[in-house]
Amino acid sequence: MTTSSGTAAPATEPRVCVRYFDGRTSQPYAAELIPDATTLIVQLESGERRHFDWSSLTVLNGVGSVAAVLELPEEQRIELPNPEIPAWIQKATGKHWLDKVRHWEGSLRWIALSVVVISALVASFVLLVVPAAANWIAWALPESTLKETGDQVLQQLDSHLLSPSTLIQDRQQALERRYRQQLAPGVSYRLVFRNSPEIGANAIALPNQTIVVTDQLVDLADNDQEIMAVLAHETGHLAFRHSLRQAITGGITSIAMAMITGDIIDLGNALVGVVVSQKYSRDFEREADDYAFRLMTDQHIPHHYFSDILRKLANSEEDSKEDGNDTVRLSDFLQSHPPTAERIARFANAQS
Ligand SMILES: [Zn+2]
Repeated sequence: MTTSSGTAAPATEPRVCVRYFDGRTSQPYAAELIPDATTLIVQLESGERRHFDWSSLTVLNGVGSVAAVLELPEEQRIELPNPEIPAWIQKATGKHWLDKVRHWEGSLRWIALSVVVISALVASFVLLVVPAAANWIAWALPESTLKETGDQVLQQLDSHLLSPSTLIQDRQQALERRYRQQLAPGVSYRLVFRNSPEIGANAIALPNQTIVVTDQLVDLADNDQEIMAVLAHETGHLAFRHSLRQAITGGITSIAMAMITGDIIDLGNALVGVVVSQKYSRDFEREADDYAFRLMTDQHIPHHYFSDILRKLANSEEDSKEDGNDTVRLSDFLQSHPPTAERIARFANAQS
């Protein structure tokens, strides 16, 4: 408790009534701060004066209705009567910026800016961190989990939306053979066929390396290459584990819990939501289209088959709407993003 600092004594400043805690008991003492540039002088009611070196102080800024505090050695402290730090204390401690900080904290403009910054952080978490984490989790899951969840999703679809295919076995086998040879050589992707007036001409990629193909899609196509074009796109979703990543992105907390507890029911439910709504992100759709484009190039499948079937799906969609059918489900292949016209043009104009 010695002296320091060489600024002029602020003799004209008013005394400040404070509560002083001596660090030994929780009992506050009424006291006054005597303005002085050399030391902090605390005068108790008894008239006793205590001197503290300015450099031994820690100044805690007040916010809102919380008063400012001066922390002193040996657990001693002083509570000021309000959030503002008197100018002469700021000057003596070199904490001129405190007032500005207090002003910022109370300023609506700064609060608004904080909201914007926090929103940006949350948005970047949702848009960047969560998808990256979802991607990591999707590739960390063991094959057995993928199979189990995919089987579970197919079971749920079978009990609600799908019925056994009416295609003859030979037709189903011929399509699967062609698919394996052209689009999935050396991998264990498989096709299953189902009838479903409800979801119409459709193909759905499940996490268990399976693509559900509806009879309605087979009927709509004029040739097998058009079916292969749709399957090339769905194979892209399989290759990148899109359904799983989308489901995990949508429910990352419950999925994380599922991984920890080994309970995959939540994962299954999230996946049913993804495959039934068939709402992949724009990036995933573009990635599946890029994959299909490359696959068709590699396998010498003319790209116009892709745009041909896309046009037919778009037309059948329009016809259903004109018939007043509100229950039509948009095929994954016919997602509106990227725009259908843009996708048709890309594949129709390809040199193949
Ligand atoms: Zn898709």
